[in-house]
Amino acid sequence: MKQHFIAGEWTPGASGETLPVLDPSTGEVFDQLQRGNAADIDRAVAAARAALEGDWGRMTAVDRGRVLSRMSLIMLSRSEELALLEARDTGKPMSQARNDIQVAARYCEFYGGAADKVHGQAIPYMEDFHVVVLREPYGVTAHILPWNYPAQMFGRSVVPALAMGNAAVLKPSEDACLSALAFCDIAKEAGLPAGALNVVTGLGEEAGSALTAHTGIDFVTFTGSPEVGTIVQKAAAERHIKCVLELGGKSPQIVFEDADLDRALGFILKAITQNGGQTCSAGSRLLVQASIYDSFVARVVERFKESAAGTPAMDRDCGPLINAAQKQRVEGFIRRAVESGLPLLAQGQVASGVPAGGYYVAPALFGNVPRDHELACNEVFGPVLAIIPFTDEDDAIKLANATEFGLLAGIWTRDGGRQTRVAKRMRCGQVYINCYGAGGGVELPFGGVKKSGHGREKGFMALEEFCTVKTVVQYHGR
Ligand code: NAD
Repeated sequence: MKQHFIAGEWTPGASGETLPVLDPSTGEVFDQLQRGNAADIDRAVAAARAALEGDWGRMTAVDRGRVLSRMSLIMLSRSEELALLEARDTGKPMSQARNDIQVAARYCEFYGGAADKVHGQAIPYMEDFHVVVLREPYGVTAHILPWNYPAQMFGRSVVPALAMGNAAVLKPSEDACLSALAFCDIAKEAGLPAGALNVVTGLGEEAGSALTAHTGIDFVTFTGSPEVGTIVQKAAAERHIKCVLELGGKSPQIVFEDADLDRALGFILKAITQNGGQTCSAGSRLLVQASIYDSFVARVVERFKESAAGTPAMDRDCGPLINAAQKQRVEGFIRRAVESGLPLLAQGQVASGVPAGGYYVAPALFGNVPRDHELACNEVFGPVLAIIPFTDEDDAIKLANATEFGLLAGIWTRDGGRQTRVAKRMRCGQVYINCYGAGGGVELPFGGVKKSGHGREKGFMALEEFCTVKTVVQYHGR
């Protein structure tokens, strides 16, 4: 039975109620979580505030960085055990779970090294004045995270906040939070003072909304669906605190007729099957120039037929989806697409021998998807790829920007001028040229525009998100 981590200690929830932990690859319950409520959130926020006023608030940036660097080393030394935990909690293939732990450790390494490198400024001002601009932590930061990459999300959201000296309260997803809980022990072992990191598990509408409504938080960062993002932003607006939103996507991969198609093929398949397509930056729309449409799509079909979903140990292209509701949702998209007459060009396999209770969906490929079809516009969050033809460069740009989302775009062409022209006109947060980077990319500023959210995580810029600026003007006389 898992407990909350508050003030450096494992703590039972106030209500005594629990939630089951399911293994998505079997559908079986293998542990229990605390079903946190407002009283637990209250204790966690108080612990974070006390840490800011105590040892954590007094710790130098160098020492904060050293704690995070030690966390990285401990994660690496326990990486196989952590990867097994992550795979069991999320169902993802072992090689992906292993990668996720490496990435989480890399966040600790990156932000550990950067903690003492965010500096203020001195500003030349009027005679007899001395002006400095200080960078300071916000205070208590609230983090609400999804289930798709729990270990990476911890590294991406919580770690830069700690690097800047904030005290964090995390409400991970009720569907996958075991790695975040395991990281609490690692943080303690690495010397993180009590209260700097607090984790309360529970449901979004209970623990999550209690956290966003709490008067003791100074900042909220949310990663998840656009619908809940709206609720979180409204709660932040009520309190006039800063809110970073990392929401969904419907990212295009644009393949021009002059592209290196051999190279593009592997990336295209991986960008939609990785994590079962449950990736905000999944390349879920494949835009193909009409002149190569038939020949290239035939090659995508061949590759797609070979793809398969399996258990973590089978280590196929994808694992099961996270839960029964997500499986139903994705199957609904596939069923409606077939019913609307869309050609189902190819479907991968569900590997033989997977447990009957697991939430497996075979990857599905649809061709000639009309531009206003739900598969061309809405986030499926599953292994479903929609192919749409385009005529020329202007048409490709218009089509790529046509959804409400704006997270990533991939451009496949050998023409250097076109690479830059198209990249400049993409309305999104990251553009990949002749490559595609769903997941990972610790060093690369990441985030969306439009319905994909606002604010930036990852890279050095995340540190700027997690600190506020204070200008100090001193009259020093003669
Ligand atoms: P979700 O929005 O359902 O839940 C995310 C988190 O919000 C969970 O911890 C949940 O408990 C909590 N929550 C739910 N209701 C809440 C409320 N009323 N108040 C406060 N918290 C609440 O999202 P999900 O299903 O876990 O994840 C899938 C979505 O996340 C997809 O849309 C995906 O694109 C998005 N996502 C975005 C990024 C990104 O970086 N842009 C990364 C990963 C996932």
